[in-house]
Amino acid sequence: MVRIMRMVFIGPPGAGKGTQAERLVKTYKMAHLSTGDMLRAARDAKTEVGVKADTFMSAGQLVPDDIIIEIIAERLGSPDCRDGYLLDGFPRTIAQAEALDRMLAEKGTPLDAVLELQVPEEELFRRLAGRGRADDTPEVIRQRLVAYRKQTEPLLDYYRQKKSLKSIDGLGTVDEIFARAKAALN
Ligand code: ADP
Repeated sequence: MVRIMRMVFIGPPGAGKGTQAERLVKTYKMAHLSTGDMLRAARDAKTEVGVKADTFMSAGQLVPDDIIIEIIAERLGSPDCRDGYLLDGFPRTIAQAEALDRMLAEKGTPLDAVLELQVPEEELFRRLAGRGRADDTPEVIRQRLVAYRKQTEPLLDYYRQKKSLKSIDGLGTVDEIFARAKAALN
């Protein structure tokens, strides 16, 4: 029996969050809610939201809070989220975190954990430069790291104060990091 788990996964671009997220959702039977994937799907489908989001994504900037909050609010209502989920890439700003808190308070379903994957900046730049996604040009990478530092890092204190933050070292093999993640969550 695996207990129901609702968690937030935070880490800078290039930290290896996607790889670990996939293993975590299998192990804990959670729905995987990646806002990056949702936005890329919307962009590729050329929906109104997708076209708007693309102007921010391709510049390495965060898309506006109201857009992403609405996407998540809708997604959290779907049946597959009833048995737990991992939020990957959301929240990324204090306003998003506060909106999430309000949604979860309304549903009476608090978060079980907030997991942070820590990787030093030089290593992130090295990894991102080798990845080759369309938004992985050096200038866009730099912008995404700046956005992380300025807008997302403040969330760490926000969740630390709520006593829900667990941080793990993101350097090592995929297996090593996954073992740390499980240990932190159990
Ligand atoms: P990264 O590799 O930078 O972590 P993601 O795949 O999570 O990338 O997201 C790609 C882009 O989508 C971000 O650079 C940003 O423009 C946009 N995005 C994703 N999630 C959010 C969010 N919660 N708030 C605002 N923008 C977001």
